[in-house]
Amino acid sequence: MTNKVVAIDGPSASGKSTVAKRVAAGLEFLYVDSGSLYRGITWKVLKEGVSIMDADKVAVMLKTVDIFFFVAAGAVRFKIDGVELKNEIRTVEVNENVSKIAAMPAVRSQVVSWLRDMHRFGNLVMEGRDIGTAVFPGTEYKFYLDASEEERARRRFQEIHDGVEKVTFSEVNESLKRRDTIDKGRKLDPLRVAPGAVIIDTTSMNIDQVVAFILERLKPLLRK
Ligand code: C5P
Repeated sequence: MTNKVVAIDGPSASGKSTVAKRVAAGLEFLYVDSGSLYRGITWKVLKEGVSIMDADKVAVMLKTVDIFFFVAAGAVRFKIDGVELKNEIRTVEVNENVSKIAAMPAVRSQVVSWLRDMHRFGNLVMEGRDIGTAVFPGTEYKFYLDASEEERARRRFQEIHDGVEKVTFSEVNESLKRRDTIDKGRKLDPLRVAPGAVIIDTTSMNIDQVVAFILERLKPLLRK
């Protein structure tokens, strides 16, 4: 493995996406949002009317997914069925179903293989739930971001509130908890702190502080 991978894992709304994008820009590495692939598959499953309870049908549908990866604006991005998905994969419906789809072994092995293959594009900063534990367990550069449940719900509520859908704080809080429970409790590659990962509690840190901390920690490693 010649290209480097910085793994940034953690639960929903721990600040991973914003931080990972900024770290990638700082290092001039490509940013990868692994959750968007699980979201893309979930969007396709819902669109095709496949039952989200039927893992066999989802596995069959997976074989027909037409996916194309490309690099643009400092990130590895993808199109499904020729479309680059944006707001469609951030809806309440996708949020509610994505963790169930992501727990299916056929879905995980497909996404993990896509993610590993991205290595060919260059040095990566990849954010997710299992990057340091399962996708690139051999990387030296692993971080685990966390924040209190209340702070994470507050951040996600703010994000959604700024968007189009209207939900209450307690709906956001409950939805996050449901997703955490599935992500931490699933059999295959559950959300865990990877061995050797640097744990960062971002509850009372702002984005600049987290980014600066990570870049500082990476300096001696990346010089090697
Ligand atoms: O990061 P994001 O919230 O977009 O991820 C959506 C969902 O995708 C997570 O709740 C989790 O179920 C799944 N996921 C995963 N492994 C990853 C990234 C995301 O299982 N590496």
